[in-house]
Amino acid sequence: MSYIYLDNAATTQVSESAAKAMLHYAREEFYNPSAGYAPALEVRKQIKRSANEIAGILGASGEEIIFTSCATESNNHAFSCGIKNKKGNVIVSSMEHASVYECAMRLKSKGIDVRFVNPDSSGHILPEDIAALADSNTAFVSIIHCSNETGTINDIQEIVKAVKKKSPSAIFHCDGVQAFCKIPTDVKKLGIDMYSVSAHKVGGMKGTGALYVRKGLNLPAFIAGGGQQESRRSGTENVCGIMSFAIAATEYRNAASNFNAHELRDIFIQKFAGDEKVKINGSGTDSGYVISISFLGLRGEIIAHGMEDKGILVGLGSACSTHIRSNRVLGSMGVSKEFAEGSIRISFSPHNNTAEAITAADALKEITDELRVRMSR
Ligand code: PLP
Repeated sequence: MSYIYLDNAATTQVSESAAKAMLHYAREEFYNPSAGYAPALEVRKQIKRSANEIAGILGASGEEIIFTSCATESNNHAFSCGIKNKKGNVIVSSMEHASVYECAMRLKSKGIDVRFVNPDSSGHILPEDIAALADSNTAFVSIIHCSNETGTINDIQEIVKAVKKKSPSAIFHCDGVQAFCKIPTDVKKLGIDMYSVSAHKVGGMKGTGALYVRKGLNLPAFIAGGGQQESRRSGTENVCGIMSFAIAATEYRNAASNFNAHELRDIFIQKFAGDEKVKINGSGTDSGYVISISFLGLRGEIIAHGMEDKGILVGLGSACSTHIRSNRVLGSMGVSKEFAEGSIRISFSPHNNTAEAITAADALKEITDELRVRMSR
C-alpha cells in the first residue's frame, strides 16, 4: 500500500543519491579510513569533505564537526563532555527532546542543581525567563532550536546573550535536529558552543548524527579508543552513513529553499479554524514543518489509527517517545490533559505537496467528526 507520509519529524525516506553513495562506500570504496594506503586515504579525504559540507550548512568549519551514531548520542556527548570538569548549575528547558531531557534528569539524580525553564503558552522559551534562572555559577545550558512537537523556533541568539551576560563561561548546547536544513542557521551568529544534528531527518541514513563543537572549546573525549576524529570520538567511522548524510543534507537544504512548509501547515489550521474543541499547539515563529493538533476529549492514538486506515501516516509526538512524554512538552506549555491526550503530530518534508495536505486535512476532519458523533451517542 502506498501511503501519504506525514511523519517526517520522526524520520524521512533516504534520498536516492544518498542511498547510492552508501552502497558505493559499502561495496567499492570500503576501506578503513584509518589505514595508510592510498584508497583508504581517499576515503578519509571524503569524510573530511562531508564534514566540510555539513559544517557549511551551519556556518562552521569541517574541523568543528564530530560524527556520531545519532543525535541522541550527540546530545549525550554534549552533556557528558560539556559538564565533566565543571562545577555549577545546569539550565534545560522542559520542551526538550527526551535525549536531552533524560540527560538532565540523570544529572539531577546525581545531585546536580538542574533548573528547568518552561516555554510560554505559544511554545517559546523566553530569554528573560532564562535570565531569571541563570547566575554566575551557571555552567551548562541546553535549549532546543526548533521543537519536534510543535515546530516552534526559539530565539537562540537572544537566549545565549541572556545566559552569557550572567555567566560568560557557561557552555551553551542547542539541539538543532528539527531545524537543520530547514531554517538557515549560522552557529557563529547564534553564539553557541555545541549543536546537534541527525542524518535521518533530512534524507540520510538512520544511525548517523553530528555534533558541532566550537573551535577552542576543549572538551574531554567522549569515546576512548583508537584516536579517530581527533581522539574526541574514537571508533571506526560510519563511512556509509557519513557520506549519505552530507549528500542528503545538501539536497534537503536546496529542496527546502524552494518549499513553503507553512502553506501545507495553513491547510490544517484553516480546516479547523473556529472549532473550540480543536487546538493548534504553538504559535508565532515556527518552521512550518510540524503541526501539533489537539482534539478535546478524543484520543490521539485512535485518530492516528483512523488516519492510517485511510492511508495517511501521522505521528503522536516524538517517534521515540511514549504519549506520556509528548504530553510533557504540551503540558509545559499549559495545554490541558483533556486536549493533550487527543493530540497528533503532522510533519512535512519538501517531498509533500498541497494535494496531500488537503486530502489529509479532509480525512482528519471526517475522522474526528465521526468520533465525536460516536461519543455523543
Ligand atoms: N532531538 C530532536 C529534536 C529530535 O526530534 C530527535 C528525533 O526525533 C532527536 C533529538 C534524536 O535523534 P536521533 O533519532 O538521531 O537519535
